Amino acid sequence: MATVIDGKAVGDAILEEIRAEVAAKAATDASYQAPGLAVVLVGDRKDSATYVRMKKKACEKVGIRTVSVTLPADVTDAALLAQIDALNADSSVHGILVQLPLPAHLNEEVVLNRIVPAKDVDGLHPMNVASLAIKSKLPYIVACTPAGCLELLDRYGIELEGKKAVVLGRSRIVGVPMSLLLLARNATVTICHSKSKDLEAIVREADVLIACCGQAQMVKGSWLKPGAAVIDVGINAIDDATKKAGYRLVGDVAYDEAKEVAGAITPVPGGVGPMTIAMLLKNTLIAQQRAHI
Ligand code: NDP
Repeated sequence: MATVIDGKAVGDAILEEIRAEVAAKAATDASYQAPGLAVVLVGDRKDSATYVRMKKKACEKVGIRTVSVTLPADVTDAALLAQIDALNADSSVHGILVQLPLPAHLNEEVVLNRIVPAKDVDGLHPMNVASLAIKSKLPYIVACTPAGCLELLDRYGIELEGKKAVVLGRSRIVGVPMSLLLLARNATVTICHSKSKDLEAIVREADVLIACCGQAQMVKGSWLKPGAAVIDVGINAIDDATKKAGYRLVGDVAYDEAKEVAGAITPVPGGVGPMTIAMLLKNTLIAQQRAHI
């Protein structure tokens, strides 16, 4: 039976560490300015508004100041970019988060790339991704979800050096930065995607599996190497008539089978999910600390 990796507990521990650090600095330095996170919300999507609310609530808990920028759904690219320029120039703002997705008429790529890399707390700017790839010594910010996966592996004492790691997925937000992080930690990394052949054989080699392909319960228990560490990033809704909502959330791994074979595994929900917000706040604290270097 696998150890269940508790992302909620680790996420809460990280939030407490951030809170304690901010409080300690504030207590000893009267001129201390708490980290500031600007949250930009465009339009009136209910799900985006909920995510923004959750992020702001988490900030409040740990003593991170938030600056809310709410713009109408029909805002122009130019007006949104002007807002980002103003936040880039504001020294009290250490991190800038643009809640995605943006309305279709806006150019997401241009908007995200406008955030200065030092304030890009989502870690999506090409400079931040590239500095991971070249093992740069430059201060870089790592995308929140892969940073959270690595933190889970570390806090559960899962060895990476010399291990075979398989990443199922190659997105900009999860798969690619995850693969680069594992490589930087001296794992031997295989990256799979929708055109990869014979996934089952590749996954069976993995000491560490990161499933981030958005395919409900695709990885079966029988695919896993006994004792493997499994981090399931996927969040997929499947029909479930027993639930009031008519659906439930599952990962990319068939959890009930997999936990009989794996050495350690994250559940969905309660695994990687809570880590993403915790790492966003940690990135904001890091950005603030670097602003003073
Ligand atoms: P994307 O859709 O951007 O990327 C999915 C990746 O998986 C692509 O590289 C795709 O390959 C690959 N893929 C798709 N189907 C298969 C398949 N059958 N076999 C192998 N690879 C496949 O998704 P994201 O990276 O944004 O998200 C992945 C999952 O993680 C989703 O379920 C998402 O909801 C979840 N997620 C969870 C977060 C959390 O906080 N827990 C945060 C972010 C995402 P190709 O490149 O060839 O298209």
